[in-house]
Amino acid sequence: MSISSILSSIKTDLPDHVRLVAVSKFHPVEMIEEAYHAGQRIFGENHVQEMTQKHELLPKDIEWHFIGHLQTNKVKYIAPFVSLIHSVDSFKLLKEINKQAEKSQRVISCLLQIHIAQEETKFGFSFDECRTMLQEEEWKTLTHVQLCGVMGMATFTDDVQEVHNEFRSLKKFFDEIKENYFSHNDAFREISMGMTDDYPIAIEEGSTLIRIGTKIFGERVYPEHQ
Ligand SMILES: *Cc1c(COP(=O)(O)O)cnc(C)c1O
Repeated sequence: MSISSILSSIKTDLPDHVRLVAVSKFHPVEMIEEAYHAGQRIFGENHVQEMTQKHELLPKDIEWHFIGHLQTNKVKYIAPFVSLIHSVDSFKLLKEINKQAEKSQRVISCLLQIHIAQEETKFGFSFDECRTMLQEEEWKTLTHVQLCGVMGMATFTDDVQEVHNEFRSLKKFFDEIKENYFSHNDAFREISMGMTDDYPIAIEEGSTLIRIGTKIFGERVYPEHQ
């Protein structure tokens, strides 16, 4: 199936409140162009250098979403153009994004990444770490970042119930902090959850942004040394 027919088959099944992030990491610009010509405008990348290079080569109305672990010393390279950072996993990182956004005279939209999986390897705040950060209120002084919601990745498992439970816990946490800190903030409305193998479950559990790579672009070929 072509990229454009896969995109339209995914999109016909999406509820109106769910947006698709096409995760193009490790795939060439030609494939992104194909998706772009099929109308896709949001692309997700997880390496700073790769996203920066692709941004230079591709049409300027693409919305670039950063979805991977972000090192503070690299924020400056994406701050001029990134449209949403899904993976804010520390207050230190949020402060650096704020600083670089100010230099670029921008306000950068961010999601708080929450660790919901059983696996140790995944990044993110624990629920309590995130609550503590929000209670401390220093984040309210950051005028060049806009907190827009939360992001999470479920455990890689065949246990469908476990995946339901993890996504449900993220939705519940979103509702809690929305009520406590963002009830008058319309921008705080995103729940980024769901990938190729689990996005239908994520949608059932309240996702507003699904991040799909393999299903659109095929298997990624990773370089041997990273
Ligand atoms: C790679 C990646 C995806 C896409 O995964 P697929 O299984 O290829 O759909 C989604 N989210 C994050 C954070 C990723 O790193």
